[in-house]
Amino acid sequence: MDKILRIDVGAQGGPKATVEPVGDYAGMGGRGMTTMVVYKEVPADCHPLGPENKLVISPGLMSGSAASSSGRLSVGCKSPLTGTIKESNAGGTAAQALGRLGYAAVILEGERQGDDMYKVFIDDQGVKIEKANELKMLPNYELIDKLKPVYGEKVSVISIGTAGEMRFSNSSIAVTDPEFRPTRHCGRGGVGAVMGSKGIKCIVVDASNTKMRQPANPEGFKEANRKFVEGLKQHAVTGQGLPTYGTNVLTNVLNEAGGYPTYNFREGRYKHHQSLSGELQAENMKNREGGQPTHGCHRGCAIQCSGIYTDKDGNYMTKQPEYETVWSHGGNCGIDDLDVVAKLDYLDDNYGVDTIEMGVTIGVAMEAGVIEFGDGEGAINLVHEVGKGTPLGRILGAGAATTARCYGLEHAPVVKGQAMPAYDPRAVKGIGVTYATTTQGADHTAGYAVATNILKVGGDVDPLKPEGQAELSRNLQVATAALDATGYCLFIAFAILDQPETFNAMVDSINQMYGLNMTGDDVVALGQKILKMEREFNKKAGFGPEHDRLPRYFSREPLAPHNVVFDVSNEELDSVYNF
Ligand code: SF4
Repeated sequence: MDKILRIDVGAQGGPKATVEPVGDYAGMGGRGMTTMVVYKEVPADCHPLGPENKLVISPGLMSGSAASSSGRLSVGCKSPLTGTIKESNAGGTAAQALGRLGYAAVILEGERQGDDMYKVFIDDQGVKIEKANELKMLPNYELIDKLKPVYGEKVSVISIGTAGEMRFSNSSIAVTDPEFRPTRHCGRGGVGAVMGSKGIKCIVVDASNTKMRQPANPEGFKEANRKFVEGLKQHAVTGQGLPTYGTNVLTNVLNEAGGYPTYNFREGRYKHHQSLSGELQAENMKNREGGQPTHGCHRGCAIQCSGIYTDKDGNYMTKQPEYETVWSHGGNCGIDDLDVVAKLDYLDDNYGVDTIEMGVTIGVAMEAGVIEFGDGEGAINLVHEVGKGTPLGRILGAGAATTARCYGLEHAPVVKGQAMPAYDPRAVKGIGVTYATTTQGADHTAGYAVATNILKVGGDVDPLKPEGQAELSRNLQVATAALDATGYCLFIAFAILDQPETFNAMVDSINQMYGLNMTGDDVVALGQKILKMEREFNKKAGFGPEHDRLPRYFSREPLAPHNVVFDVSNEELDSVYNF
């Protein structure tokens, strides 16, 4: 991957593409690339939807190679939701396709002229950009149906739905999966709105005439990747739990731990949790025609945590909803029906919104009395309001914090304007530290302390006590920033945290791919470098330690059943970035 594609959307006569060598950005990929470009090229005080912001799309360093589970695609910009730097990543097939075509990044930049929408086509022959007003305001699934007869089903598509075109702060960027469905989403932080602000509806990537990227040392790479896959297969989470039940295996686990946010973070357990469990979800996928409980979001994933979810008559409903999606639309809203959650997941993907932000926003709207807790049909209607851009939909589409403000509520479970995911920070304090301090706004994937607090992976830190949480979160945030640069899926973390030989096999795979001699310390240094750039950007954008806090009510209102508050001190929170 030695070139960067820049698309100037403000060029005379319509967007223009130029390809340049990777230059100063050599050695960067995924989050490393998106962060460095935004840090160096985007003024921190710019408006996220203005001409100075850029949307950076980058495959990970290992994407497009035979490395297992390495097809993550990062998208970065200044976030319209948080005002901070943003990196959001997804699986799907596009990272591998871009990697095989040799693109280290695609950068959308400049000031959109007029209100035409464009589509971009990239293959081994070059780049074509065409006006595509016939695709305007199409939701993602309908968009893919329109593109199929033109490009076939072997291409990858990166697209926005209606929410992105309307520049909503909760909008996502969709990436197609191996079945050519727009099911994988760079969800967080309103990245779809930035793509919409550049007037680009979709990027079609055709790598069918290319070969997999070849390692510098093929034999060494093969052996390192073999050991790595062996490690993934032998760990209980990556080898059994995730392939069998998907991420939703966590519903019962978090409920048991008393950290399952229920009714807009009012309680830590949900009495109908069994109706939403990963076990039941897997049964449905196994027993229903067309269902598939074990499935990869891209080819070459040894974990295969995903699946295909059908209704009772065998009709496709959506991909297997993730734990965070099932929680945000399920227990958080008092909705106890997996099929209703599946319908909501489909609508989120179709309109192109973040399932976490959307579900938490519905929970806030329920608390405000817009609809009742437990009203599944009402929740479906609210997502339609967003997708169609009604006045109420525009409020909800601006996210949970704005919705709470519009209805005069204190209870907005957000940090830096971004909705908290599926773990209550009072009962899982390590994740609370991550929510508070990450450069991204509340984001579980930025430093997944749940692994150690609850699943006892990589050690054991009591989730209910404040001690040790800052250090835990710091170490995980550094490791995650590095991992997000590689293109490896975050879920490999369970195996590499617990099994030193699997961590070594991962580092060795990178070394054999690039002909390097990196050590574990170099991985840490890469993670720290990325976080420092992000932190520096945020500082220039006006964020200081006073923003690294949870909403005050989490320190004031105890959470049942443990009756705990968030009590990690501000001094501890401020120590997270002491490196
Ligand atoms: S583990 Fe799941 S999310 Fe990660 S790459 Fe594999 S299928 Fe995709």
